Amino acid sequence: MELTCHVCGQTVSIATWSEEYERLKSSDDPAYICDACQQKIRLDAQNDQPR
Ligand SMILES: [Zn+2]
Repeated sequence: MELTCHVCGQTVSIATWSEEYERLKSSDDPAYICDACQQKIRLDAQNDQPR
């Protein structure tokens, strides 16, 4: 199954047996975000934390 990353627009192949696929299938908002962008978002969120 091919999915397009919601953030960078890159097309990524997702195996139908993968956790990611199961998660997207059961999601109300199946917007796929690739690993690289997920990591970037996570880092950005950490950087936004007030000190
Ligand atoms: Zn991406």
